[in-house]
Amino acid sequence: MPELPEVETVKGGLEKALLGQRLRSVRVLRRDLRVPVPDDFCKALTGCVVTQIIRRGKYIVGVLDSGRAFVLHLGMSGRVRIYDSGLPANLETHDHVTIEAENGTGIVYHDPRRFGFLILAEAGNWDSRPPFDRMGPEPLSGNNVFNGAVLHQALAGRKGPIKTALLDQSVVAGLGNIYVCEALYDAGIAPERSCALIDEAMCVRLAESIRTILLRAVAAGGSTLRDYQKTDGSLGYFQYSFSVYDREGERCGGCDCSNGSVVRTVQAGRSTFSCPVKQV
Ligand SMILES: [Zn+2]
Repeated sequence: MPELPEVETVKGGLEKALLGQRLRSVRVLRRDLRVPVPDDFCKALTGCVVTQIIRRGKYIVGVLDSGRAFVLHLGMSGRVRIYDSGLPANLETHDHVTIEAENGTGIVYHDPRRFGFLILAEAGNWDSRPPFDRMGPEPLSGNNVFNGAVLHQALAGRKGPIKTALLDQSVVAGLGNIYVCEALYDAGIAPERSCALIDEAMCVRLAESIRTILLRAVAAGGSTLRDYQKTDGSLGYFQYSFSVYDREGERCGGCDCSNGSVVRTVQAGRSTFSCPVKQV
């Protein structure tokens, strides 16, 4: 499932392809995504110039010169393909929405499981409406936006485990299962540890780890993206070497737990990977 770094990679691709471009034609091949594509979606986009592409949490917002915006969420399996010289003659199964700009750029939204969606918003106030109105700080927006004190405040009064709290988009935006596991490992904090037992010093460490892990993944996405685009024009997921995620039974990526190994537990129905030696 795409998390902040993957969405950031897609956002960068869309920005390069669509910023300043007038949209010539928009087609919806399948409307019943997780949230149905609005009836007036094609009409709202066609003829408009894209003035800004923004990522907020796991969402991408494309602001139009008409005063409206489109909002894209990739769900579980959503992918965006970008074609510099026009849409392909034959679309693939699960290609649900296509967009063509006047300069010939073609965009395809592909989503086999259809948990993603494309909806419309009013550009001026998209961030004061659900789901953006309750969304926590952007972890990469700078130390004044997201830091240990901010995280400590967001955790105040919470009783559950820290892992579950970090998946809550109102605590911090953009994290999912993978990067929460990796950040907790980096910070040396056990995923089961109660939020009530996370002090401010731990929050400082954790906020720093979240930022480090995300920046590394964004950088890896950027470089992989360039290689990937040469072959099929796709934007989306990338391979990244994780320290603990999906590595049950292996040694973790950076400590001396030579007798131990990464363990998998289940929290709130989702797999958690951690090193019981490093994380306490
Ligand atoms: Zn270890």
